[in-house]
Amino acid sequence: MKRTFFAFLLLAAFVVQSTVFAQTAVKVTPAERKLAEGVTAKQLSDYLYFVASDEMEGRDTPSRGLDTTAKFIGMNLSKWGFKPAGDNGTFYQKIALKRDMPDPAATSLEIGGQKFSYGEDLVRASGNMTGKMTAKIVFAGNGWMVKSKNLNPYAGLDVKGKIIAVFGEGPMGGRNLVPMPAGITQADLTGTRGQDWADAATYARENGAAGVMVLASKFLTSNWGMATQMFGRSRMFVEKLARPQSNPQPGNASNVFLASEKLSNAIFVGEAGNPLAGYTNSFELTKEFNFSIGTKSETAWTQNVVAIWEGSDPVLKNEMVAIGAHYDHVGVNQNAPGPDKIFNGADDDGSGTVAVLSIAEALAKAPKRPKRSVLFVWHCGEEKGLWGSEYFNKFPTVDIKQVVAQLNIDMIGRSKKPGYLAPCDTNPAPGRRPCNESLSGENEVYVIGKDMMSSTLGSIVSGANSGYLNLKYDTRYDDPKDTNQFFFRSDHYNYAVNGIPVAFWFDGEHEDYHGAGDHPDKIDYAKMEKVSRTILITLLKLADLKERPKVDKQLPAELTQR
Ligand SMILES: [Zn+2]
Repeated sequence: MKRTFFAFLLLAAFVVQSTVFAQTAVKVTPAERKLAEGVTAKQLSDYLYFVASDEMEGRDTPSRGLDTTAKFIGMNLSKWGFKPAGDNGTFYQKIALKRDMPDPAATSLEIGGQKFSYGEDLVRASGNMTGKMTAKIVFAGNGWMVKSKNLNPYAGLDVKGKIIAVFGEGPMGGRNLVPMPAGITQADLTGTRGQDWADAATYARENGAAGVMVLASKFLTSNWGMATQMFGRSRMFVEKLARPQSNPQPGNASNVFLASEKLSNAIFVGEAGNPLAGYTNSFELTKEFNFSIGTKSETAWTQNVVAIWEGSDPVLKNEMVAIGAHYDHVGVNQNAPGPDKIFNGADDDGSGTVAVLSIAEALAKAPKRPKRSVLFVWHCGEEKGLWGSEYFNKFPTVDIKQVVAQLNIDMIGRSKKPGYLAPCDTNPAPGRRPCNESLSGENEVYVIGKDMMSSTLGSIVSGANSGYLNLKYDTRYDDPKDTNQFFFRSDHYNYAVNGIPVAFWFDGEHEDYHGAGDHPDKIDYAKMEKVSRTILITLLKLADLKERPKVDKQLPAELTQR
């Protein structure tokens, strides 16, 4: 599951089928039950202790740990007789990544004659990666202009071609660049943005400033290591998707710099006053900002893992039911608090990775094949912005029009057991670490999107469950009013916008979500077994359907853009 770094504008813009379907149980045969029982808690645990081990180093995209995990999946698929469906008869769809990074030889930073180091004293959170800039600096408080409240830190200042220095937080962990000042609420922002009210980035854009420099606030200083890691080093993106995705882009301001405490203090020496020492008036500094940045780039490789289990029906085998998970996670973070720096991602999405692998094994060891083929895709780069699934849908290695539905598994391993509301920090900085309130129980799971595009898919997903283990399927996240935006946050999304009906299984956020503590020993393997078997039954039912599930509801236009 990908974390939301920035507010999606399309919040609540889609309409969900509101009709309540009678849940007609689908009859599950003894042979199907036997096949599903090929997935066991023991097997899931064996695989997950490998995939989420420290040796996989948190499976960042790209990384050696991720490549090793891919090889582990591919080795098993080969052993079980799967047909490779990646590039050139292999199980791997190779994806070229590009990494742009500052070129030290072509990068320099000087303020008022004093030299600083880019990447250590200053980083650029957004803006064009190459260029030269000479500009005066103006200090403008927190940078918020709100006419209805008589707030205007820019009174008497000309910002054209200059850098606006403000106090803020930087766009990290879902924070605003510069949060609204105390006493101002959304309701005070009346009239036209840019004219009647503006944040620093908007004001900079509207008034031709050269950029915004966020001075070291307490928050920024205590998270400086993360800031330099996120913004100072490099930007990576999928070459063929040609769009940097890994960094949030605050507003539309061209250049947003984050300044360290050292640099923030240094620029005010010998000036009218030091805002870090409590000086609050706006003013123009005498010092000049001289910055040049050159970049170099290198190519790195990663891969999706793709396989087909061929169907038995001579005609229907040309169609495929797709099942997938993302096998990447967020890697290692040396700035993480505490001794554990490896983000093992046992639940996210080690659980989906090994559930799909165990489903593959159960299918391969069954005496009979389903009628349709089954397409297995383990996606990379989900945590970076759904890279693998977007790439697969734009450059498919199979005839993707023959995919009749996609079942996505992202986090099915945790459960809220009685008394499991462990103490957790309700407002940790940076970012959000949820507590366990919304975690699903031992016999329940969230199911998202099943009714959005195809009534048939919706009723098969529901019916296969009620005719089998009858878990509690919680569909609350289909509600357009839900602010979590889960529909946008995992790989099924890219299949859905490609016209393929989807269903997504998810256990809910918990205290270890995107934390270093997402370990395999915290997984409820009995629940994983139940959910995995139920998804396998669903898969068999879809694979044996007479007609492919009709897309009778188009995904609303608002949902086609993330
Ligand atoms: Zn995640």
